[in-house]
Amino acid sequence: MLYVKIVIPIPVDGPFDYSVPAAFVPRVVPGMRALVTFGARKCVGYIVGVSKQSSIKNVKPIISLLDDAPILSKELLRLTKLVSQYYCCSWGEVIDTALPWQSRSCKKGLELGKAQENLPKTSRASITSLINADRQGRWDFYLNELRKCIDLGKQALILLPDILKVARFKERAAEIPNAVISTLFRKSPSELREWLKIRNREVNIIVGTRSAVFAPLQNQGLIIIDEETDYVYKQDQVPHYSGRQVAIMRAKLNGTSLILGSVARPLETVLLSRDKNIDFNEVAVEQAVRDIFILDDRTYFKGNTKKTEQISRYLQGVIDSTLSNKGSVLVYFDKKGFASYGSCLKCGYELECPRCSVNLVYYYEKNILSCSYCNYSIAAPRLCPQCNSDYIRYEGIGIEKVESQIYRLFPRARIVKLEHAQEAGSSYADIVIANKNILSLDSKKFDLVCVLNIDSMLSRIDFRSAEKTLLLLRGLLNLCTAKMIIQTSMPGHYVFKSLKNNNPEEFILPEMDFRKQLGFPPYKHLAVIKLRSPDENKVSDCANRFFEVITKETDGRSLEVLSLKQAQPFKIRGNFYWNIVTKGSRPLAMSALIKRCLKKVSHSGIIITIDMDPV
Ligand SMILES: [Zn+2]
Ligand SMILES: [Zn+2]
Repeated sequence: MLYVKIVIPIPVDGPFDYSVPAAFVPRVVPGMRALVTFGARKCVGYIVGVSKQSSIKNVKPIISLLDDAPILSKELLRLTKLVSQYYCCSWGEVIDTALPWQSRSCKKGLELGKAQENLPKTSRASITSLINADRQGRWDFYLNELRKCIDLGKQALILLPDILKVARFKERAAEIPNAVISTLFRKSPSELREWLKIRNREVNIIVGTRSAVFAPLQNQGLIIIDEETDYVYKQDQVPHYSGRQVAIMRAKLNGTSLILGSVARPLETVLLSRDKNIDFNEVAVEQAVRDIFILDDRTYFKGNTKKTEQISRYLQGVIDSTLSNKGSVLVYFDKKGFASYGSCLKCGYELECPRCSVNLVYYYEKNILSCSYCNYSIAAPRLCPQCNSDYIRYEGIGIEKVESQIYRLFPRARIVKLEHAQEAGSSYADIVIANKNILSLDSKKFDLVCVLNIDSMLSRIDFRSAEKTLLLLRGLLNLCTAKMIIQTSMPGHYVFKSLKNNNPEEFILPEMDFRKQLGFPPYKHLAVIKLRSPDENKVSDCANRFFEVITKETDGRSLEVLSLKQAQPFKIRGNFYWNIVTKGSRPLAMSALIKRCLKKVSHSGIIITIDMDPV
């Protein structure tokens, strides 16, 4: 009798044993899909092993084999297994994520040509960190490397943060002689077709978003990740994998080349450079020197401006003189709407989202209140819903309010507000008011860049806030041709010093020191156990039991339990969230321990997900 080991895309670890009916025995190999019964239902499972025996009694047979050839190569089987062990989820869930969506529900065979999988290499991975704040500069570097890779007859993969950039990069890559390009991204109607072309080796360059990291490369020569620090590479659903981390795993497994491109050197990459199992090198292009002025808003705001005004007199003067010299101005401000919360002055009622424990944001232009976490939105009430008085006041400054102030101060300027990545049409404007999405546009450059309200980002409760702030400022600096003004009440912060002196070390040394002392990433890994349920008491009870179990189970070496807390916000879309934060040195050991605890804590009605390396 022949048996197969099958994993299924559910949050339960397999593999599960099934027997193989005689008719399928001649062609069954690992990597194929099979139709099986699991519990009471029929589902698609993935064969991960074939064996002559099984230790299970009364093994059920598979219903049918769906493919004539393996849909998953040996390399993808190894990679997906490793990803499931690292990210604490089931192997079946990762395989499901790795394949095009059409192949999951499809119970028919796919047209798979004979794969010519090259044997795994024994060479070491080589990782190049490319640091260049200018996107075109980075893209030129990639195009050159892609050309070299396909000249060797190999396949190359490049990941970009979003589909607009995928489309733009594809146009550039088409200039490479002999390039045959495929684009790969989730929910694309042609995902399966493109996926098959890659697997059947009909293309040599693959341009895609996060999930393309699992592209079925047959002869991989090069993987590139542009804007490696962009958090879109981290999937916010199970499995919570990071495309960057999976690319590193893949390069290490196969001894391929990996290029990580970024506007500034990320701390994770600083640590990667010390990894003795890879060949690491750095290509850094220095950012052009600009005149950077750190404006201490504690002195410049004193007495001369109302508290709610964002543009200080000093800033107004500099903008004025830039405009009179026919220069252009970018004002950066990253907070939505007109006001961030509203409340009744008479009875204290706060305008909150009924489904989430957050304040509703007030939008002046549309005259609505809207939730930033769900799609809840209502017309802004004139009277207090609780006491019927008309004492509703809005506070907290949003981008619309800054816009209204700028209109008032510079009535003759042409002003444009850019909030969404798809927007265009800033080319004629004298003043552009924008949030961070301006960094994903191929924006024009500005003579003057003014950064407002950066303190709200820098002082956020997040150990990465300084690093995130610096990356943002480096990106904005790249849009600046002459002068940059940063308004802050923390002018002595090393983020600003490093930027002003154009000296990356001035940031990296103190920041690495700070992370090391606290035992935070990149020195250690964090894993957050997230529990959620619409039942507030049940989820709190379960979180407390889980906390007890994991505290008892750990020996303190593989994993340290840091905290048990309500998430912020506590309630989203009617679900209550609790987080257990843990820390350790080895993700595989941490995941294994958490998986053991999951089996010990009964949690019916509670959804528990594990976020390894949260961002
Ligand atoms: Zn009231
Ligand atoms: Zn909401």
